[in-house]
Amino acid sequence: MTNQTGFVSFVGAGPGDSGLITNKGLKSIKKADVILYDRLVNPRLLREAKKTCDFIYCGKLPNRHIMRQEKINETLIEQAKLGQYVVRLKGGDPSVFGRVGEEAEALVNEGIEYEIIPGVTSSIAAAAYAGIPVTHRDYSNSFTLRTGHASVTKETVDNTYNGQYLGETIAYYMGVKSLKTNCHTLIEQGKTPQTKVAVIEWATLGKQRVVEGTLETISDIVETENIKNPAMTIIGDVVSLRQKIKWFDKKKFIGKRVLVAKSSGTSFDLEDYFTGHGAEAYSFPTVKMEEAAFTNGELTKALQSDRIIFTAPESVDTFLSSMLNHSFDIRDLPRDIQFLSEKTRKKLMEKGIIATKAEFSEKTTAVISPSGKKIDQSLFVDSHVFRSHAWERDHRFDELNERILTEDNWQTVIFPNKASIDSFIAEIERLRIELKALSFAYIGESVKKYAIQCGFTHVDQEVQNDLENNKWKR
Ligand code: SAH
Repeated sequence: MTNQTGFVSFVGAGPGDSGLITNKGLKSIKKADVILYDRLVNPRLLREAKKTCDFIYCGKLPNRHIMRQEKINETLIEQAKLGQYVVRLKGGDPSVFGRVGEEAEALVNEGIEYEIIPGVTSSIAAAAYAGIPVTHRDYSNSFTLRTGHASVTKETVDNTYNGQYLGETIAYYMGVKSLKTNCHTLIEQGKTPQTKVAVIEWATLGKQRVVEGTLETISDIVETENIKNPAMTIIGDVVSLRQKIKWFDKKKFIGKRVLVAKSSGTSFDLEDYFTGHGAEAYSFPTVKMEEAAFTNGELTKALQSDRIIFTAPESVDTFLSSMLNHSFDIRDLPRDIQFLSEKTRKKLMEKGIIATKAEFSEKTTAVISPSGKKIDQSLFVDSHVFRSHAWERDHRFDELNERILTEDNWQTVIFPNKASIDSFIAEIERLRIELKALSFAYIGESVKKYAIQCGFTHVDQEVQNDLENNKWKR
């Protein structure tokens, strides 16, 4: 046993929408050496982790059993004892049907320090995104969280309901399968059969679906509509307010499922845009940047050139930070600094450098560029290329991506450029994922042409319109 003890941060990831995590929770993710995460955690949150952070999945996988609770406790202890900063990332709030009690107790027994960072629990979030206030002066002055699912130690759910709570709001977690029984019990215990009920599937995400009924009708409706877990049941008069207050359902792309093909370090702007408009959007493949470490000799050689061309914003970052590490600063750069794209120009500007657009020159030139980038040879006579970084598949996301791509019914893939088509196809093949009848959208005619060559046939006009209007660029 080492005496270097780590720390465990229990973090509530929120209900789904990745924006619903707390600032403190996000900081913890950024700091983590290892993250143990559950099935219902939004995988987009893991992108915020360090490149060196390990991910351990604690949920169910196809053909595999869920990680047992004792095993989870053991792993937390083991990792903390290695001196790691461990994040235990749980869906919603860690204390609400989240077993944080058991896990924290195990840590106390081992003398391991921890913190518990609350999250937005899915009942409150689901209600909010369905346009249902959980309390309301005219309808309900209490709110109860229940499990709809019998705990292992109990045969049945204890739904004891005394008449005095009539008219109040109840949320059932994990209750899709036992919905019928639970509604029936509530009626037996005195709730009127006409009491309103809403069931919200995949709340706060683009794939959110809401069905409404009463204690009498809801279980049939849920069955007809094929509502599955995760789903939240909200019972009470407040549900009637939904018709007027609902807002999330009104978003333009609600229910739409779009993949955004990614080639390199392109931004998540498209994913953000479509998510913001109610779609379920996911960028794929997941890549991470491997930074090159420049040697003193390389830096000296590059800095002695008459001019430097940066071909990507990340090249500016890695080159300048490498310079500082070797005790060079921006005064050591040649006067002539050039860029290829607007993004790189901006990055240089942030660093206090007003650069010019790269054009032909006979001067000796250092080109600072990511690997794999084609470089226009007509810009110089004599040049030396220094690789600043490479974009590589982030294999920590392999299982996650496989699950995400196969579980959801993706309808459309957006290709922002040609390279993204190649990288998308290669990654689908590598992970052996089959996507049926995927329509596509594109940026630029040449990209469209190439997508058709690659076998994509049908353009998703609805998505395409927003791409063409450049709406996503703000
Ligand atoms: N700690 C979590 C709950 C874990 S129990 C929290 O605070 O929310 C898991 C149950 O939560 C699911 O069976 C489902 O009933 C509910 N749930 C979690 N995420 C949900 C979502 N996005 N939409 C609807 N229900 C959700």
